[in-house]
Amino acid sequence: MALGKRSLVLVTVDCLRADHCGFYGYSRPTTPLLDALACESFVVPAAIVAGAPTYYSFPAILASRMPLALGRDVVGLAPGESTLATVLRESGYATGAFSAGNPYISPRFGYEQGFEVFRDFLDFEAHTTQNTVSPETPPGDSAGGQLNRSIKSFAGALGFSRLYNELYFQYCMKIAPAAESVDGLRKFPSADILVDRAQSWLASVGQRPFFLWLHLMDPHSPYYPPNEEYRELAGRDIEPGRARYLNEYWNRSDLTPSTLSGKRDQVVQLYDAGIRWADRQIARLVDSLRQSHLWDDCVFALTADHGEEFLEHGGRYHAPVRLSEEIVRVPLLIRVPGERGVKVPASPMSHLHLAPTLLEIMGVQAPSAFQGQSLWTNLQRGIAWDDPAIAGAAIVGPASVGPAIIECAYGCTNPFRAGSRSASRLLAVRDARFKLVMRIEPGAIEEVYDLEADPAEMRPSTGGPVLETRKRLLQGAYEHMETTVSARDPVMRLRARLRDLRCEIFG
Ligand SMILES: [Zn+2]
Repeated sequence: MALGKRSLVLVTVDCLRADHCGFYGYSRPTTPLLDALACESFVVPAAIVAGAPTYYSFPAILASRMPLALGRDVVGLAPGESTLATVLRESGYATGAFSAGNPYISPRFGYEQGFEVFRDFLDFEAHTTQNTVSPETPPGDSAGGQLNRSIKSFAGALGFSRLYNELYFQYCMKIAPAAESVDGLRKFPSADILVDRAQSWLASVGQRPFFLWLHLMDPHSPYYPPNEEYRELAGRDIEPGRARYLNEYWNRSDLTPSTLSGKRDQVVQLYDAGIRWADRQIARLVDSLRQSHLWDDCVFALTADHGEEFLEHGGRYHAPVRLSEEIVRVPLLIRVPGERGVKVPASPMSHLHLAPTLLEIMGVQAPSAFQGQSLWTNLQRGIAWDDPAIAGAAIVGPASVGPAIIECAYGCTNPFRAGSRSASRLLAVRDARFKLVMRIEPGAIEEVYDLEADPAEMRPSTGGPVLETRKRLLQGAYEHMETTVSARDPVMRLRARLRDLRCEIFG
């Protein structure tokens, strides 16, 4: 039976950086709907993911659990693990999830648990096959492919690799079939499709309170936003062929960051237009909730699983090789009916605390397995949660939590391969001002960044003044590692391992 009557809508937007949202001060109008909602919401200035990318982020968002807590080789949720969805379903909520084709948040990794309706859109296919052959994916075993490889190695031997790569890229662009629309180039279903399905499901729910989780991929690469959003932001149209050219160029592994930087602003415009499209579709969802009088009883939360890099540190996309702010800092907006958002403290808020906070807002007890704590009282009263003076306070009331921890297996870009999950742990400890980043492996030296003096994280701090800080953050890392081992749930770990083995055996 539902303890509270409120419903919950959780929207997660893949790759959405906090600093590209209007309500975080971005200069482009990427998020008009969310900007308006922000005025009546709690907007967390420093929301920090617990891991990146997708597969290291979602265990914290949905299950309030650090991504590597069950072991570095375990990815996703364990069978039987408590999540926002399982808890709310047990409390009488209708539960539905609509996820835009991200393979890492699928039943393969346990994300369907607790949802009566779970659509992952993994069967989505673009309307046409307008994809091109890029220099990174040369033609296979055809005679042309073999000839191509011979020419490439010959050019390399003569010192003409760069020229060869450039000519080959231009050749691929030239022979690619004409792109008639961006719809056929898109890799993931667009937000309007997801919102349509979510609306149909909401119409079927009746009077029950509901939990709707919507995961949108529009800002994810390859960046193919609808032209009208691009026009709104850039003041001109973009041809599908041009969008494809930019995406293919941006994906080239043969170019240095300084060469790629020539196209950076144009690529960012595509990314920003994807955000604006997601915002427009979220607006459509909110409108329909208003019209059906569900909005007044609806808690709405928006966040992202990680950010996106645009060469700030030389990288593109979001591979787990660094934990800089463009990757780990995400938007977090929580709208609660009847509550006017107050100014939220600047303390970093880990995603670990999101699910317990949402459950308290809903009036539903959080399971004991959740590693995070509810920060609802802190949010309501504007009390920082990194204040040690609050430590040991009563269960009900403002909480005090440690620094935000972020972790992933270094360089694991394909968790379907069990081998790549076992890379060394990349760990960050972030407090309100400083961030320590280290790889847990012999000989690795940790780096400390002063985010106030060096927000772009260009110069690791050294020397006397930061020694005390370094020691404190290292202590945080140590305590985290110790807890990871001592608090590991062996049953959950075994269940997850068994599921993985079944998938490996049966495909
Ligand atoms: Zn993601």
